[in-house]
Amino acid sequence: QLSESESIRRELHEKVQNLKGNIRVLCRVRPPVAHEYDRSLCNINYVDEATIELRNRENHKSEFIFDQVFPPEASQMELFEDMAGLVQSALDGYNVCVFAYGQTGSGKTYTMQGGQTDSTVGIIPRSMDLLFASIKKLKKVGWEYTVEVSFLEIYNETIRDLLENHPKHHEIRYNEGKGVTVTNLKIQPIASVQEFHELMETAWKYRAVASTNFNEQFSRSHAVTKIYINGVNNESKLVYRGSLNLIDLAGSESAKTSSNERLQETKNINRSLSALGTVILALSNKDNHIPFRNSKLTYLLQSSLGGNSKTMMVVNISPLDENYGETMNSLRFAFKVKGVNINAKKNKTYISSAE
Ligand code: ADP
Ligand code: MG
Repeated sequence: QLSESESIRRELHEKVQNLKGNIRVLCRVRPPVAHEYDRSLCNINYVDEATIELRNRENHKSEFIFDQVFPPEASQMELFEDMAGLVQSALDGYNVCVFAYGQTGSGKTYTMQGGQTDSTVGIIPRSMDLLFASIKKLKKVGWEYTVEVSFLEIYNETIRDLLENHPKHHEIRYNEGKGVTVTNLKIQPIASVQEFHELMETAWKYRAVASTNFNEQFSRSHAVTKIYINGVNNESKLVYRGSLNLIDLAGSESAKTSSNERLQETKNINRSLSALGTVILALSNKDNHIPFRNSKLTYLLQSSLGGNSKTMMVVNISPLDENYGETMNSLRFAFKVKGVNINAKKNKTYISSAE
């Protein structure tokens, strides 16, 4: 049995989440970095906390409304306020997906990973800190949690396990009971934030080694950090199986190249990003057929996007005038995605007393 205060807390939490809807779309404009100080900036107006207005050189105005808009001076901590409830949702048995979308150089990796100092760390390290702190508290009220993690990237529609030094072949499988699994994928149990960071370092090193020109490939692949969270209540035997999927998407920019190889890559990236948009839209329209299998990314996230899931997309924007075209593309994409309301259900089961 849950204590009364515990169930009231959860009920409240759920009400708040339902009010907010199950997909949150945030827009974040990064500040100019050092070598950009002499470049001209886009004419951006922050109308209110949810509205962003852009003007092009002809002074033509475009306005977009999101769940929240973060101007360049917004801190990592402010951005994370929106995320904190999702970590609790994952503990409560939901599948949570967080995407960083945007062109290369718009701040996706900064948003997800962030810098090295306490104030600049991004969503992933903050989520892990909060996750383990919450698990510690829940333990006192009879909940035992286990946490596991996998790191993979999708490059040119091929999956690579970032915890595996020797390349293996990976297939995505779907099964009614288990949902989506990836064959040969290493899933490592972790007992602390420290262990998470050690694994992540290994994963990132391997990501760099595996690519011939890693700076470029970093922006050409989708990086998926998945946290598997299982909780059991010692008395009621209630089980929550949730997950956090934290995704640094490949750069959304359109092709500007004559190389065939590059062109194929860009085609694959654009196809998977548009498949993602289509899937989210189809879910919101409650379509009978959701085209999850149109890309590796959407297939991989099938159980985390449909049904019992909560999604947050951070659309990252460059402040530079020269990026106006790509900025508009990103805003339009995000705006399309925003129309969604997934009907979230918990992954709730009971362990039978025979077990
Ligand atoms: P992307 O991953 O989309 O290619 P990055 O996250 O690497 O872009 O960001 C590009 C540059 O801008 C990096 O030097 C990064 O540190 C910096 N940057 C991005 N967002 C911010 C921010 N909100 N505050 C300060 N610097 C940022
Ligand atoms: Mg990046």
